Amino acid sequence: MDSLLKHMVDMTGHRDHAMLDISVISAVQELAGAAQTRVLNIAIIGERRFLRSRASIGGGSSARVDEADNSQLGEPIEHFPELVRCLDEFGASAESVDDKHCHTMWLPIWFGDKADTVLEIVRPGPFVGEALHMVAGIVGVYRNFHSLLAYSERDSLTGLLNRKTFDDQLARMLQAVNDQKLLLPGQEERRNTGEEEEQWLAVVDVDHFKSVNDRFGHLYGDEVLILIANLLTSSFRSQDRVFRFGGEEFVILLRSTTLANAYRIIERFRTNVAAHLFPQVGTVTVSVGFVSIRAGESPVVSLGHADQALYFAKSNGRNQVCHYDELVAGGQLQAVASNDTAEFF
Ligand code: GH3
Ligand code: MG
Ligand code: MG
Repeated sequence: MDSLLKHMVDMTGHRDHAMLDISVISAVQELAGAAQTRVLNIAIIGERRFLRSRASIGGGSSARVDEADNSQLGEPIEHFPELVRCLDEFGASAESVDDKHCHTMWLPIWFGDKADTVLEIVRPGPFVGEALHMVAGIVGVYRNFHSLLAYSERDSLTGLLNRKTFDDQLARMLQAVNDQKLLLPGQEERRNTGEEEEQWLAVVDVDHFKSVNDRFGHLYGDEVLILIANLLTSSFRSQDRVFRFGGEEFVILLRSTTLANAYRIIERFRTNVAAHLFPQVGTVTVSVGFVSIRAGESPVVSLGHADQALYFAKSNGRNQVCHYDELVAGGQLQAVASNDTAEFF
């Protein structure tokens, strides 16, 4: 029991998903007497599901984070029919035995009716008695703690993702795009034609927001921010990511779309805001700067470029959307490679 408590203290001491994964597999490995324990991610790519190890322990090595291998899709989930059945039936666990009497148990981590994480435990004999009980308890703590961490990734006023999750979400988006290319090879990009699908980063800043606060008070200002957050969520697509970066500044990551489409989607948001009647306050407008973002490019530099385009929109009448590359090509902006423009309004 001492050991169990020690593991519980360790698990609940982390503020990071990867470290939480590490401590859960260390706990399960010891308490279940396992040969190998892994945290698996279920990645949905197109119509198919793949399993990928996020963290693992076993075979004499200590617990480690398994870095995503960009050249691999992972193991197709249909290789594990017991697990597929369990997921289809919203089950608590699945088990299989191989011809060497090795038992594998999978425990999906359910959040409502969704599970994108599975704990996998392999041991030389069957899972029995108290150990099974303890593992079920640990999975419960792990799930609760994961949802607590997910809660801490959101802004409390608007419910949007907060700034500290930006780098992680950007890396995930670039990874997902790479996965799609692996699954559908041969779709080579047509660079610089304006027709290729790219990832986009947009920075939004509310126009003259200080005057909203000054005229109507902070509470009405907050209400405007909540309503703009709702307009952001409804104007962008489910595969896009929307952040509140602080104050009245928002950032959006748009996934896999052409320049014309990105522009159309962002414009749609801008006009949705301009057409909205905010209670008491009336009309509010936003300015937006955006830029494409590719793997290997520094997020800070891209944010700086989007910010320069936003600054241009602000200085040229506000209530408009500006594309960084277009401004540079038109000689309206100087291309600056430094990050010292990453200062927001
Ligand atoms: P501009 O068009 O140039 O962006 O003008 P602005 O007035 O929006 O610019 P500025 O950055 O000077 O003002 C932003 C204001 O946003 C200042 C601050 O009082 C207000 N603000 C920041 N965070 C919050 C918040 O959480 N709630 C409310 N109500 N106001 C906020
Ligand atoms: Mg502003
Ligand atoms: Mg501002």
